[in-house]
Amino acid sequence: MIDLTNKDLMPNLCLIDGKWCEADQGDRVNVTNPATGEILASVPMMGKAETERAVLAAHSAGKAWRQLTGKSRAEILRRWFELLLANQDDLAKILSAEQGKPIKEAKGEIAYAASFVEWFAEEAKRVYGDVIPEVMPGTRLTVRKEPIGVCAAITPWNFPAAMITRKAGPALAAGCTIIIKPATQTPLTAIALAVLSEQAGVPAGVLQIVNGRSADIGDTLCAHPLVRKLSFTGSTEVGRLLMRQCSDNIKKVSLELGGNAPFIVFDDANLDKAVEGALIAKYRNNGQTCVCANRILVQDGIYDRFAAKLADAVDRMVVADGSNPRADLGPLIDTKAYASVSGMIDEALALGAKQVTKREIHTDPSQRFMNPVVLSGATKEMRVYRDEIFGPVAPLFRFYSIEEAIELANDTEFGLASYLYTSSINTYIQVSEALEYGMVGVNTGLISNEVAPFGGIKSSGIGREGSKYGIEDYLEIKYVCLGGLE
Ligand code: NAP
Repeated sequence: MIDLTNKDLMPNLCLIDGKWCEADQGDRVNVTNPATGEILASVPMMGKAETERAVLAAHSAGKAWRQLTGKSRAEILRRWFELLLANQDDLAKILSAEQGKPIKEAKGEIAYAASFVEWFAEEAKRVYGDVIPEVMPGTRLTVRKEPIGVCAAITPWNFPAAMITRKAGPALAAGCTIIIKPATQTPLTAIALAVLSEQAGVPAGVLQIVNGRSADIGDTLCAHPLVRKLSFTGSTEVGRLLMRQCSDNIKKVSLELGGNAPFIVFDDANLDKAVEGALIAKYRNNGQTCVCANRILVQDGIYDRFAAKLADAVDRMVVADGSNPRADLGPLIDTKAYASVSGMIDEALALGAKQVTKREIHTDPSQRFMNPVVLSGATKEMRVYRDEIFGPVAPLFRFYSIEEAIELANDTEFGLASYLYTSSINTYIQVSEALEYGMVGVNTGLISNEVAPFGGIKSSGIGREGSKYGIEDYLEIKYVCLGGLE
């Protein structure tokens, strides 16, 4: 049981066309706490028929929603933002319970999620078009930006709140309607966000939650001609599939996919700051973020000192149930994730990596909680070099020159986040310009916020979320050529 002040936040139903409803066949799925295995609640398990109904409701509701002024939509979004903050503690409890992240991180995620609603409430009033100087007498050329229409959002379990508001905020601000399919492991936060959107005055059908069978819901959303846009955050594998499915009726797609972030530490870096940055970039959300440092590339001259200092700090991190206020790291999302991360550690050790941290890695027989690890002597042959680790493991790779660091950093199909630590302005310019990534953190391990464009290149995705660019993905450009003027 989650002890909430505002009990209304857990109706444990889906929201379609302004009604809180069960699945047509009454199917339900349990939501469990990854820290304890406790069943927190059950929620409807929907499929094609319910999704189809949601699409029709979204289409119908969109007619009035798009007619509102940006200012009116902004007022509703502003109220939603205020309600999110007013319920921050309860929302964080729900999020932490179903996802596992420490309560302090969960509170931070709710503030981060709310910041997108606030930002896009403000942007709703700034959807500017253009007046283009005419090339023929007697004409006027203008450009208007119009809402794209019904949008679909499919979101992952690692940020159950922020990955939703990063899509719903700009969609609603632009005048679009949105159908959200949250991850099956973390639907309770999505449902709570929807409760508050309703209280804020978001009309029926404008924001809907359909939880259930991902392939059925995904198929329906991608195939339906009334859905004009899909925004997906999740694995590259599922992103590829959805992009293919959207190709039949040429839907606009935004994809926020996997990463393999390099975290480069040069000899001239401030050691303490680099360690502090690595702790944030690697171990936040137990290493389960798309922008997590995956490969820690360390220059020869600072390598041993960095390894020792990072390992010392990592050994002091508190691993505990997310509800424990002292917890730095909670459980991994499930035992499958635990097995996957363990497999990568075992392979790296078998291929010659050495564990620098002192704590034993596996002390929890239930295979939920893993003690964080630093590995030295990692090499290109290991999976930790190629694959997204998604767990509390920092593999350290040694390099000798700037050119080698750039080559290693770019040697991946992914291009989401990257990080570098140096005190040289020349190194900063040379390396940040050479990195084939959508985002570069220089002397910081924390780069995400609502005002900056978040997104990747290569197999990490298409499009940007947050910032002044985030709303563009939900708009179409309409050019009007007015002729025949005297
Ligand atoms: P995932 O398996 O791709 O799932 C993401 C979402 O897609 C879930 O809602 C899932 O539903 C749904 N889904 C799965 N198969 C589907 C299908 N055939 N059709 C339609 N929907 C389908 O990813 P994940 O394991 O939850 O999330 C981790 C991944 O997300 C990592 O690779 C991470 O890097 C990436 N990520 C990227 C960003 C970014 O901004 N770039 C941010 C966060 C996470 P079910 O839950 O029902 O399976």
